[in-house]
Amino acid sequence: MAIQNVTVAGSGVLGSQIAYQTAFKGYNVTVYDINEDAINKAKDRIKGLRHLYKRDIAATDADFEKGLANINYSWDLEKAVANADLVIEAIPERPDIKRNFYKQIANFAPKEAIFTSNSSTLVPSMFMDDTGRPKQFLNMHFANQVWLNNTAEIMASPKTDPAIYKEIVEFARSIGMIPIQLKKEQPGYILNTLLIPLLSAGEELWVKGVADPQTIDKTWMAATGSPRGPFAILDAVGIRTAYNITLAQAQDDPKPETQALADALKKMLDAGKLGLESGEGFYKY
Ligand code: NAD
Repeated sequence: MAIQNVTVAGSGVLGSQIAYQTAFKGYNVTVYDINEDAINKAKDRIKGLRHLYKRDIAATDADFEKGLANINYSWDLEKAVANADLVIEAIPERPDIKRNFYKQIANFAPKEAIFTSNSSTLVPSMFMDDTGRPKQFLNMHFANQVWLNNTAEIMASPKTDPAIYKEIVEFARSIGMIPIQLKKEQPGYILNTLLIPLLSAGEELWVKGVADPQTIDKTWMAATGSPRGPFAILDAVGIRTAYNITLAQAQDDPKPETQALADALKKMLDAGKLGLESGEGFYKY
């Protein structure tokens, strides 16, 4: 089955980028989010990508407009997935929310539709049975700033059909991604298996009061030649996602340092410091 109609569910930091990139490459895209307010935010986020596409990949205004014209928006889940060949899920990193979402779309989406999850830390076997189509479900994980950092890590569950896996590898390539094919399930894929320990170590140094974020970043950059340190990366990831991950860790393993980190990140959220997306996180933009 050729993929033409793609529904991107969740239009936050990553969902909005995935949706626009997919539309930019010519697919019919429906953006789904939970209510009108979230959809209005999505429209602004997507429009806000214009200067980045112009600056980073030399897109013209006409190119950008063409991409915009391929996007529809909906906060009605049943309608949003009714004609989908592919549903890309980019909703909050919370198993309860994802499980409930898959159970709903299992009934609403066409039987042949493929579902992929952009989850950063959760493996597809956790949700495969909720989808009602375990053979057509797998993870396709994008990196922040998809038009620039164009990896798509593709990870099957033990039940995914190998032909569907191949189809998603080709789809990823068709939207300008470099498909990274994992041979088995690995929480955190390749990228986050490397990256999360770095970010966690930075956060730990910060909440323990060993050094401030800027000093920690400066050390990493000067000593390794890296262009960014852990806190600049956290700003790009988004403080909301960092908070959700920390909250889950605090629930699994209630250590005082983890709770202290969750509290510190919550304080930033309450102050409107969401990272790059709001113009301020650990740094001002
Ligand atoms: P986000 O908080 O920016 O956006 C989440 C969006 O989902 C919001 O627009 C919210 O309104 C919407 N939402 C909430 N409940 C929903 C529901 N029941 N159904 C549909 N939409 C719902 O989060 P994000 O950073 O874009 O992360 C989304 C997913 O992508 C997560 O699984 C995360 O692990 C993954 N991811 C994030 C990054 C990153 O750098 N931020 C990178 C790779 C993968």
